[in-house]
Amino acid sequence: MAATPLTSLKLDGRKVLVRCDFNVPLEGGRITDPARIDASLATIRYVLEQGGAAVLCSHLGRPKERTPELSLKPVAEYLSGALGKKVALAPDCIGEITGRMIADLTGGSALLLENLRFHPEEEANDRDFSHELARGKSVYIDDAFGAAHRAHASTVGVARFIRERAAGFLMIRELEALRAVTENPARPYIAILGGAKVSDKIAVIRTLLTKVDALLIGGAMAYTFLQAQGLPIGKSRVEEDKLELARELLALAEKSGVALVLPSDHIVAEAPDAAASAEIVEQIPGDRMGLDIGPRTIAEFVERLRGAHTIVWNGPLGFFEIPAFAAGTLAVGEAIAGMTGATSLIGGGDTAAAVAGQPWAANFTHISTGGGATLEYLEGRELPGVKALEA
Ligand code: AMP
Repeated sequence: MAATPLTSLKLDGRKVLVRCDFNVPLEGGRITDPARIDASLATIRYVLEQGGAAVLCSHLGRPKERTPELSLKPVAEYLSGALGKKVALAPDCIGEITGRMIADLTGGSALLLENLRFHPEEEANDRDFSHELARGKSVYIDDAFGAAHRAHASTVGVARFIRERAAGFLMIRELEALRAVTENPARPYIAILGGAKVSDKIAVIRTLLTKVDALLIGGAMAYTFLQAQGLPIGKSRVEEDKLELARELLALAEKSGVALVLPSDHIVAEAPDAAASAEIVEQIPGDRMGLDIGPRTIAEFVERLRGAHTIVWNGPLGFFEIPAFAAGTLAVGEAIAGMTGATSLIGGGDTAAAVAGQPWAANFTHISTGGGATLEYLEGRELPGVKALEA
């Protein structure tokens, strides 16, 4: 998968539609983590410096219709500050008023379109909506890696109507990082998966079992595997309907000669509650739930990682939002960050949030802005948003 880089296009005086991933966390109308916006600033600055008129667009959240709390207004304000120039917010992503604002936009200026998902046609990849979105623009740049696994109007449909297309700097960086771990990865190659649900990660586990030397599993998803092995898991989160599949994956690992390593001790509590008293156990009592990997598991995971040359990590290893259950995620993260000889790719919004602000977080080779897109790429699937940029 290779997309044309934006540097190969002439942007001066042209209306450039830039699909960004501004799907940032909000609390009471305030952006709590602007990392995704920051990640696209280089592309936006480049378009403006080259004299392009940047028409920025993104989705935010999962609205099915116009929802005032999911307006991109806070993003327009943040962008104005970050770029040092006013970025106006259009009242919609299509329509007459927005069309006039785009027509009036001059080279070197940026306009942000309102949340694409206020129109259900966006997710439906509707042809007419895609046509409207393309209206008045002669260049399309996709920098929204986090949405590249979705065949939506703004990631795929619009490309039919704009002939000159390219990948933004963030998209290029993300794809290069993924290529580095998937095309002839240096061995040993170790993957670590965590997070809540096995169901989200079945396909990637299957593929990884044909590629990696060891697969380490933590987080809530580990308990489905432990239950499948007949071990006591108390009140831990389990996907009962995935037990059979977990057994199948364990058998597949054995057949492929890949070590599938599960936690051997746990931090348990009665509930995922900061006030609950946490303890370390090897056998989970019936009235407790596993909320983090224990110290022995941390040591085992770190020992497995020693000497690895390629590491992929997706999903927190515990209920990291509560500090009492964050130690496993942080210890393993710090160990990976310290492995300077290895290529490390950290993916998924939760994983990135879990390590954000740690002094060692800058030492990973790459922290991806996309969770689902990273997993689908690792599964070996073609990303529709990337394919749409080609030819
Ligand atoms: P995911 O979206 O599948 O990557 O899952 C991320 C979520 O999994 C985070 O909100 C974590 O708090 C949660 N999580 C991780 N480990 C556990 C656990 N042992 N029990 C319950 N939730 C967990």
